[in-house]
Amino acid sequence: MKFDLIIRGGNIIDPKSEVHGLRDLGIKGGKIVEVGTDLPGAHAREIWDLAGYSLMPGVIDTHTHVRGPAHRMMAKAGVCTCLDMGAGRSVFEEMPERGCGLNVAALQTIGPFADKTPSNGELDGLVEGALQAGAIGIKLVGGHRPSTPEATAAMIEAGNRAGAYVAFHVGSTETGSNLKGLLEAVQLAGKNHLHIAHVNSYLRGLIKDPVEEVVDGLLSLKGKKNLVSESYLAIINGTGGKVVDGLPQSHVTRNCLRMRGYDPTEAGLEKAIADGYGLVQIEEGGETVMVTGARGVKEWKAKGSDVGMSFPVNVPESTFLCAVKRDESGKFIVDAISTDGGSIPRNVAVENGLTLVRYKALTLDEFVYKASTRGAQMLGLHDKGHLGAGADADITVLDMAHGRAAMTVVGGKVIMAFGIIYGKGGTIITTRKGLPVAKAVGLPALEVNVQEMLLYTKTSE
Ligand SMILES: [Zn+2]
Repeated sequence: MKFDLIIRGGNIIDPKSEVHGLRDLGIKGGKIVEVGTDLPGAHAREIWDLAGYSLMPGVIDTHTHVRGPAHRMMAKAGVCTCLDMGAGRSVFEEMPERGCGLNVAALQTIGPFADKTPSNGELDGLVEGALQAGAIGIKLVGGHRPSTPEATAAMIEAGNRAGAYVAFHVGSTETGSNLKGLLEAVQLAGKNHLHIAHVNSYLRGLIKDPVEEVVDGLLSLKGKKNLVSESYLAIINGTGGKVVDGLPQSHVTRNCLRMRGYDPTEAGLEKAIADGYGLVQIEEGGETVMVTGARGVKEWKAKGSDVGMSFPVNVPESTFLCAVKRDESGKFIVDAISTDGGSIPRNVAVENGLTLVRYKALTLDEFVYKASTRGAQMLGLHDKGHLGAGADADITVLDMAHGRAAMTVVGGKVIMAFGIIYGKGGTIITTRKGLPVAKAVGLPALEVNVQEMLLYTKTSE
């Protein structure tokens, strides 16, 4: 048989291949081998008729947290490929059991160093440890658990020295998870390569009017070819409820409490949850749900305060402008639309991205670019982010009438259709150093070269 599968009748949206309109996709061995009209059905083992649906290259979410229920939640939201921001090897160890067929890359958190600058040797060891744990690089969690500016710069430098991926939730002991932290991050990066995580979340109006903050924040990123970034389209944030010595461990959580006049203490956090402002994440029915009020307090206490939490603190103006703002040459200032979702219930890149399309704030091509094509470049995945011949058959099938993902297809296999999960396991995206981890957990690996990722290639764009 020439094809394992022909997908007929779909409206293809593929900005990279400049294909827009009705085409058939011929798939074999998990790859798209032919794009055309009226591909011969007699040559296919299977045919799907997707007339009425739009097909985009599979969504690539460049900021996620891949714990337990995340796989299911992402597959339902149309995500084919994701980058976990910080959990490292534990992400892969869960995949045989919890995975739903997605392609997953991970970073591993290093630090914090709040009162010393570690030696280069120590930092090099930590970066190497992350790579050997299967991560493609490191994540710095400044905004939650800050390091000194000097230690932060040293960590960024160490990641670059190793040619690893380096992402940063901005903020140091001198700043915070805010505009100041963002401006500082650009300075601390210097000429080093750095992924600035969820840009929108620093622009919540903590320092001045949020729109003025967005202007300053985006200007600081504009034209910086050593920086890549993403932003998400949700009002709730993601943080933690863990209390240590009477204080919320995460500085982001403390910020959220201050923003609405609560004490940044254990008591203040309890009151914020009781009042319905603090949302506690729990797993129910295989997915994360958020509970608040008396139930929220009960769950928070039952878990010894160590729960994921969200607060409705993002500013719509900031999320909107980060998603749509271009520079004079027409290039988006923030590279990608992400979600900072996964196990945090806000996997809304498709849902809210298509809302921007309906509002004509983005064209459909631009949405696909920001939700898939650019993400493929960010992860150095040459065979993803487009639907041309030779591409991996990773496809997000869009139900445009309802503004959501109808099906998620990875490597020519359905992992989700109409809310039902079919996928299992998944593929580990890792560097050569991480291949033994994939082998140890018994999942296939997709080897990538960090030097081919936008983080390092943007300077030659
Ligand atoms: Zn995050």
